[in-house]
Amino acid sequence: APCASSRISSEFCSSKRHKNVEMIPQCTVMVQSGKVDRPTIQNNSDNNQNQSHDDTDMDPPKPSSNQNSNNGSNDSSSNSNDSNNNEERTSKDYYFDSYAHHGIHEEMIKDEVRTRTYQMAIMQNKHLFKDKIVLDVGCGTGILSMFAASAGAKHVYAVDCSSIIDSAKKIVEINGFKDQITLIKGKVEDIELPVETVDILISEWMGYFLLYESMLDTVLYARDKWLAPNGLILPDKAILYIAAIEDAHLKHERIDFWDNVYGFDMSVIKDAALREPVVDVVDAKNVVSNAYPILKLDIKTCTKKDLAFSSRFAIKAKRNDYVHGFVSYFDCAFTHIHKPLGFSTAPHARYTHWKQTVFYMGETLTVCENETIEGEISCRPNKKNPRDLDIELYVNFQGQHSKKDGTMDFRLR
Ligand code: SAH
Repeated sequence: APCASSRISSEFCSSKRHKNVEMIPQCTVMVQSGKVDRPTIQNNSDNNQNQSHDDTDMDPPKPSSNQNSNNGSNDSSSNSNDSNNNEERTSKDYYFDSYAHHGIHEEMIKDEVRTRTYQMAIMQNKHLFKDKIVLDVGCGTGILSMFAASAGAKHVYAVDCSSIIDSAKKIVEINGFKDQITLIKGKVEDIELPVETVDILISEWMGYFLLYESMLDTVLYARDKWLAPNGLILPDKAILYIAAIEDAHLKHERIDFWDNVYGFDMSVIKDAALREPVVDVVDAKNVVSNAYPILKLDIKTCTKKDLAFSSRFAIKAKRNDYVHGFVSYFDCAFTHIHKPLGFSTAPHARYTHWKQTVFYMGETLTVCENETIEGEISCRPNKKNPRDLDIELYVNFQGQHSKKDGTMDFRLR
């Protein structure tokens, strides 16, 4: 996966999106794990697997994990030649503008948990969209803009800096939205809108570990610049969680692997491998503890400062087991609509292209049922490359059979 673990370098690839999406039939809902005040999420899905409780037997599909991903497109428009013709694009264009290729958009659109939730949040709230001015931040193929136009928006401004917008222009025209949707090519931070304010801001900005790629910065910039005082923002809530996992098998494959590579000792790489969070599917059966919310974002009011955060946590083992690391995932919700909606990217929820993010520890903890692991997780954009995240994980465990008191540094890039 374009998971951190399979990347070459941040220059080469850092897109939050990657290939191989499993088609799933329905939109999912927020999970119900205590702790935080959540919106009551209504799911008009017929599948209860989504009402996840921790011991569900559902095995998420495991896509192969060898995809590549590319550089985030924000810094890219100036690098790519401005070829409007897909046929003329070369790997160089895609290298600097990973969102230019239709494949990444195919993956996102086919992520039905994602796309259906947006579709329902918009199309089932026609009363909110009727005659409104809408801004779509990072419109890609224009799909969210077309939902908004279908829901009766008076006008939609759709902005994207990637050359995918050249296709979006044609798509919008072919589908009869030419007069209702205006596409603007450029970075949100650089463009001008023909209106002073917008009534509704829509965007799909979430990255791995929620914040990877920092596209939320762009959404907050647009909100502060254009959103009317009583304007709506979709989605408006996001919550990031951490839980402990048993993962002997995959940790062995990913980390201990370096001890003996075709007979050679490559263990010098182990330390670097350990410091890279792994983006991949975690089986719900591997989750050993409850989940603790380490970040709750209200997109309507949060600021860029909130995106560098530090949170203490305490999680309790639900059975005797071994802990090799931690899993992190997020929920996302639309709570200011008629009937709140949301989805979860938890191990026990349906597969999404965000999968989960895993942090391995060097050592293994032996935990007994009801023992508590305490800790603190801090996350901030890397100083040199703000698109990368520096994550510090402090763990304090004083169990009957094992103890740990130490800090690990990770870098998501
Ligand atoms: N809204 C589409 C695409 C989401 S992917 C969908 O839901 O399918 C995010 C998009 O935001 C990408 O196409 C990327 O090129 C664009 N983007 C990211 N940062 C941007 C910025 N600063 N200015 C303009 N577009 C941006």
